Amino acid sequence: MSHWLGLRADENELKHQARRQLCETIALNSTSHIRKQQWLDLQVTSEILVDRYDDLLSIGIRNNFGDIKADAGHHQDLWDDVRGETPNVAGVSVPITLNQRPYGNVELVFRNQTPSLLVGFAEHPLIRLVVFFCIAASIAYTVFLGKMMRVFNRTQVIPDRVRSALDTLAEGLLVMDERGKVALANHSFSQAVDLPTDVLLQSSAQSLPWTDAFDQPCKTLPWAEALDERRMVKERILHLQVTDNIRRIFSVNSAPIAGDRSNRGVIATFRDVTQIEEHRVEIETTLQLLQESQNEIERKNRELEILASRDALTGCLNRRAFFEQFGKLWRRSTKRDHHLACIMVDNDYFKRVNDTYGHTVGDEVLREVSKILLELEETGAVVCRYGGEEFCVLLSQTSFDQAKQTAEEIRQRIEALKLADIPELTLSASLGVTERCHGALDPQALIDQADSCMYVAKRNGRNQVVGYDPNLPSFEQDVKDDAADEAKASVPPEAVSALISSLAYRDVFTAEHCQRVAMLCDVVSEAFMDQGDQYTLRAAALLHDIGKISVPDSILMKQGRLRPDEIELLDRHESMGVSLIETTFGDACLTGILTYRNAHFDGSGRRRDLPCGVNIPIGARILAICDSYDSMVSDQVYRKGSSHEVAIAELRRYAGSQFDPQLVEHFAQVVSESTSEQRTSDEPDTAVQICFQVERILEAVEHQDAAVLSSLSSRLSVYARSREAGIISQAADYLNQNSQLEAVPWEGLLAATNALLSECRKTVELVRENTPQQPHLLAR
Ligand code: GH3
Ligand code: MG
Ligand code: MG
Repeated sequence: MSHWLGLRADENELKHQARRQLCETIALNSTSHIRKQQWLDLQVTSEILVDRYDDLLSIGIRNNFGDIKADAGHHQDLWDDVRGETPNVAGVSVPITLNQRPYGNVELVFRNQTPSLLVGFAEHPLIRLVVFFCIAASIAYTVFLGKMMRVFNRTQVIPDRVRSALDTLAEGLLVMDERGKVALANHSFSQAVDLPTDVLLQSSAQSLPWTDAFDQPCKTLPWAEALDERRMVKERILHLQVTDNIRRIFSVNSAPIAGDRSNRGVIATFRDVTQIEEHRVEIETTLQLLQESQNEIERKNRELEILASRDALTGCLNRRAFFEQFGKLWRRSTKRDHHLACIMVDNDYFKRVNDTYGHTVGDEVLREVSKILLELEETGAVVCRYGGEEFCVLLSQTSFDQAKQTAEEIRQRIEALKLADIPELTLSASLGVTERCHGALDPQALIDQADSCMYVAKRNGRNQVVGYDPNLPSFEQDVKDDAADEAKASVPPEAVSALISSLAYRDVFTAEHCQRVAMLCDVVSEAFMDQGDQYTLRAAALLHDIGKISVPDSILMKQGRLRPDEIELLDRHESMGVSLIETTFGDACLTGILTYRNAHFDGSGRRRDLPCGVNIPIGARILAICDSYDSMVSDQVYRKGSSHEVAIAELRRYAGSQFDPQLVEHFAQVVSESTSEQRTSDEPDTAVQICFQVERILEAVEHQDAAVLSSLSSRLSVYARSREAGIISQAADYLNQNSQLEAVPWEGLLAATNALLSECRKTVELVRENTPQQPHLLAR
């Protein structure tokens, strides 16, 4: 048809035209070469042309005489074939004219292709075109039909009445083909996923954003699994984020639809279990919380049980729990007549550990010691923290000898204890051991036996085990008195008295202040200390200002406030005082109290190198409070003392920062205005003190030192007035006034002072005769 309509050119015609044009071009070209006699060029050109065109087999240029002037490709032979009309060659002869006269011919031999009928037919363009159209059309048709049929198959495979029946189902339902394409989505499903049915029909169920309970995309979907494994998949939970704020949970069942040989598709039902699941999760969370709180309660109960029965620091049983256990063990051992041994352990010189290294280290030592004892619990022993640094161990079914051996092992292990931070710290303990066979009638009697053995061990030099022996004396009281004796041995009261007397001679105000502070310390420390410690604290209080002995009179006697450089000098003398005490007595406890008495409880204060909190020795903390209190309430030369209430308020103001708050409260409880008055009233004789002062005044008059006379006399005046010795006070005022005159009447003053001194001496004698000797403060 295209041929007829002229849409397609004739192939042969085109070929002929091409050959003709080629022949004409070669002829023209040859003519030009011949005219110029360029035979070589003509030859070369001819050869190139034969090479170039496949169809052109040879070229020959022949003149009118029949001579070949140039040729290419075996021309003569081929031309002969042309003449002989060989079928596979065709010749063309183009005449050439030169100067309007015929010159000869250009002869060209072409390949004459006459293909076989079949090949010719197949190669015919028309045939090819028809074949091409046929193939293209059938491919297009197949694709189109396939697509049409697929939609038709999927949607029309289910009849309309079934479809509307399925729409009435409450559960979502999807029917999918074998590739997962949706063939049917019922109304419930379309509603649940908030997508119209026709949109669903164009997509596959996989394209929806299904996730699992942990919000992770699902790897395998139940319908794909049903298809792949050709089995039913039941109750698979899938989550679907329908919109930004709607999330649904489905329980999906899926079954393959079996065909003749392969699966035809799959059917999946979607039960919306969002609410049920949410409830389930809520219940699970609640249950979990309940379980957690139950665990917490159990843990707390266990802790409470431990707290109620164990000592927090050491983990040993407390007394209550101990006696409970003891009762049981006692009953069992008496019923079955078993052994029951008791060991009492008391750390030696433990107070020194506290005083030297602080309570933190003391606590650490207690923990280490208790660790050793608690190891015995593994063998059924009962270990109790019986007192501060005292432990009691019960060993059931252990003979007396075995118990003594165990006690000895404990002693050795305590002796070998070393704290990593304080390698020089050596420890020891005294142990008392007894057993039921020694006739104890009840648990307490057994403990008492062990206790008295322990005291014997102390008495015998500590660091040893003493087993019960009915002939042992009871040493308990002795040992307690020992503490005070020991303290006295180390800080002899006579030496303290001597030092305080010399201070009184220099400055009676300070000496009396020291005595008042010592008494306050005594009252306050009663609740915390044994007699030995109380003695040491008392000595520390008496000696705390001893450094003032070496302060020059000009500062010591100064009326009015001190300048900063004078305060610094006082500080220096204070530390000199501490060194003096240290070298005189060499008692660590005493030196400790004096060194740390200026340490602030919260670590503030001028000296940051001092310890803080409970690491400050308790004596130093008590002394700091008593010292400040007395300074506040007593009259100074330059100001009147404040009231008890004001002083207590001031102490409370600095409780926690400068002072130990608990001790401040204790102080406020045990010290009242009357306490201090009552204590000061039984001070050693005022007359003696006045006598001392007058002696010093006499010295100043003799040396005609007006300045010292003035300060001594003004101080005596205040002191005498405080002791209600009005006459002395007036005499002192008189001396003071005269000392300030421009021309001091030294002779008159000398006579007046001498008279005053002899009056004083007489009074002293009188007082000594009338009043029985007051026990010295330190002799208490
Ligand atoms: P002795 O050899 O005679 O037993 O001398 P000692 O110093 O060990 O005995 P004392 O009974 O005089 O002192 C016991 C000290 O133990 C007094 C107290 O400060 C201290 N202490 C008591 N309980 C604790 C505690 O829980 N921690 C610390 N760090 N010390 C404690
Ligand atoms: Mg002890
Ligand atoms: Mg003790």
